Amino acid sequence: MRTISNLSAHKRLSVSNLRTLTTLIAVGVSAAGAILLVIIAYAGWTSNRSSLERERMLLQNGINRKIARTLNEQKSVAWWDDAVTKITDEAIDLEFADGEFGVFLTETYGHDEVYILNGEDKPLYAFSRHRRRQPESFEPYRPYLNDILAEVRTGKPSILKPRPDTFSEDQKTYRTMGEVLKLARWSGHLLSVNGRTALVTVITIVPTIDLTLLEPRPKVLISIKYVDEGFIQDLGHTLLLKDLAAIPHPSPRDGVYSEQVITDEGTYGGYIAWTMERPGQVLLTSILPLVGLGVLGAGLLASGMMRRLKRSAEELAGREQQSHYDARHDALSDLPNRMHFAEKLKSALSAMPDTGGEDVAVVAYVDIDRFKDVNDTLGHHAGDELIKAVARRLQMQLRPGDVLSRYGGDEFAILWVSHSASAATRLAERIERAFNTRFDVHGQSLAVTASTGIALASSSTTSADELMRQADIALYEAKTQGRNRAVKFADDMAQRVEERRAIELDLRTALDQNQLRLNYQPILSCQSGEISGVEALLRWRHPVKGEIPPGRFISIAEQSGMMPELGTWVLRRAMEDWWRWPHLQVSVNLSPVQFRQSDILDVLQALINETRVTPGRFVLEITEGVLMESTDRSSHTLDAIRAMGFLSALDDFGTGYSSLSYLCHFKFDKIKIDRSFVAGMSKSDGYRKIVNSVVTLGKGLGMAIVAEGVETAEEVRAMSDFGCNELQGYYFSKPLETEAMLRLLQTHAAKPIATPQPEDAPPLLSAVG
Ligand code: C2E
Ligand code: CA
Ligand code: CA
Repeated sequence: MRTISNLSAHKRLSVSNLRTLTTLIAVGVSAAGAILLVIIAYAGWTSNRSSLERERMLLQNGINRKIARTLNEQKSVAWWDDAVTKITDEAIDLEFADGEFGVFLTETYGHDEVYILNGEDKPLYAFSRHRRRQPESFEPYRPYLNDILAEVRTGKPSILKPRPDTFSEDQKTYRTMGEVLKLARWSGHLLSVNGRTALVTVITIVPTIDLTLLEPRPKVLISIKYVDEGFIQDLGHTLLLKDLAAIPHPSPRDGVYSEQVITDEGTYGGYIAWTMERPGQVLLTSILPLVGLGVLGAGLLASGMMRRLKRSAEELAGREQQSHYDARHDALSDLPNRMHFAEKLKSALSAMPDTGGEDVAVVAYVDIDRFKDVNDTLGHHAGDELIKAVARRLQMQLRPGDVLSRYGGDEFAILWVSHSASAATRLAERIERAFNTRFDVHGQSLAVTASTGIALASSSTTSADELMRQADIALYEAKTQGRNRAVKFADDMAQRVEERRAIELDLRTALDQNQLRLNYQPILSCQSGEISGVEALLRWRHPVKGEIPPGRFISIAEQSGMMPELGTWVLRRAMEDWWRWPHLQVSVNLSPVQFRQSDILDVLQALINETRVTPGRFVLEITEGVLMESTDRSSHTLDAIRAMGFLSALDDFGTGYSSLSYLCHFKFDKIKIDRSFVAGMSKSDGYRKIVNSVVTLGKGLGMAIVAEGVETAEEVRAMSDFGCNELQGYYFSKPLETEAMLRLLQTHAAKPIATPQPEDAPPLLSAVG
């Protein structure tokens, strides 16, 4: 029991483990999915971001390169000896200035405005909007260009945001420029000029060949390039930024980045916008949703699997519960089984007081009588049906709280708790009621009886095991007393049961070790006074306990299943002995168990073949009890035995049910009137009348009448007067050992019994000696 409960506890553990496992897997799968999505989203986002950073740098670089390029364009004319000499404070060669500066720079390189200032920053030359202007037209621009001019004049950075000097990098490749680079100064910035954002570059005008022409404060060339559509388009082409455009306000369009333009003096100058490349977009817009779908699918799949796993876990739990139920219930009747009953009994007893209170716990063991016969004759299905029917009947007799359990085989156990003093009797009555009416099994109507053993306890001091043991003993007693009854446990029963168990064990050795023998008691013919036969009676000399009477051990042999073997031994010995007195009839007692034995006819035939006896010399004695049970079969067996040539006798007539109808139903050769009748006859007139009518009826049916247990001359006289055919009893002889029997046969002198002997001188005993 302990192992089973441990087992189920272990199973319960594993089911909860499974549940935790499924939850863990669910959490794990969703976490992994979420992490994957986050990683992809992050990868997409960062790659977009770094791409944008690169594009922004590209733009700044582009502007710086543009400055360098503009300076380069200026340089091509500003660093030139002619430029130093042909444009001076004194005189300006306007044709030269237009051709090489104004027109050249604006038309060839798209500069918007070109100015030349002298060493004192006084304007000498101005060219804007496709024409030469008055030099004074520079003045409105001056406030915007002070800082950049200061950078060129001083050679030091101003408040303007510094830019990398890409221009001077470019010059390093020109060797000859080396000297000029030392003399020249320049600066380029993104500035807000007159409300417009513009690229402003300033470079000194210096000689490249005749360095003596160098002025102490050289003239400067100023170019203004407005950041307009053309500028931006050009920038876009070189930078490969898509849809690059200058716009006043940030673009609301998706995928378009608007970079705010901040000029080098720190004012805002609108926006430069472009369509971002966004390489991570494919991750974000295609792969992320796909993976998302995948994760969702995996999640659904996993949750489906999990649900199935959960279901199977629950099924397992259900099955476990079922097996727990199965372990405690009988499959055929669905009643609690032995184990469950013991549990219930234990808890019922533990609920009782220590000293014995009002309540009584009654345990009844109910065993169906001759259940094996039903199985043998009608088949196992019928047996099963009967078990179920009995279970239903018993259940109907019980109250809701009572426990009915199938104890295995044809045995049931009932636990009945009551505070009635007569609980045991009332329960016995109810059980009896369950068997009152016949059972319909497979179309057959069966009269079924049961034996019941009852034990009770009124305090918790009696253990469940003890109570069950007592009920078992009481049941054994009920069976011993002849079945179909309820027996309440009594203390002396236990001892008797022990004794019986001991005898049962010893009897097996007795058979093997030749402790058994037969005695013979003569049977005399009334007419001739001769010994007409002998009755074989079994004897057992126990090595320790001495002689054990057959009345004690035969019933034990019957109950323990040893009877067929024992009975066959008796038959064989009686048949072998017969050869010593072949002129006599030998009576052999046939136990009801033997009579019902399915192969009894084969056994008898085999013995005839083996011992070569004449069956007609053997009288098989059977008792009434045999006839009561399944009558058809009994009469069939009886007929078959007689057909083999054996004679039959109805033994112990008058002790059992003594139904005269048996005499009409079954054909016997002899009726043996029991000793109790023989003894009673001399005292009671009633007995005499019964015996008289039995003798008359038997004789009428052609049966011989044998009186057994004849002890006195008076009995001898009475029985012979009644017309008995044969007499048997101590009056003539006790059962004798074989040798003594042989001696008696030699010395016996037959005298007709019709003339009885005086009472004090029995005729045979003296002969035995
Ligand atoms: P039973 O078949 O009625 O046997 C007759 C019993 O009566 C014998 O007892 C016998 O000794 C006893 N008896 C004979 N004459 C008198 C008498 O004048 N006065 C008294 N008081 N008793 C007398 P036993 O040998 O003790 O056998 C008892 C029973 O045991 C038998 O009763 C029989 O039922 C059974 N039995 C004995 N041997 C066998 C056997 O081999 N097989 C079977 N199945 N049963 C046997
Ligand atoms: Ca007998
Ligand atoms: Ca008898």
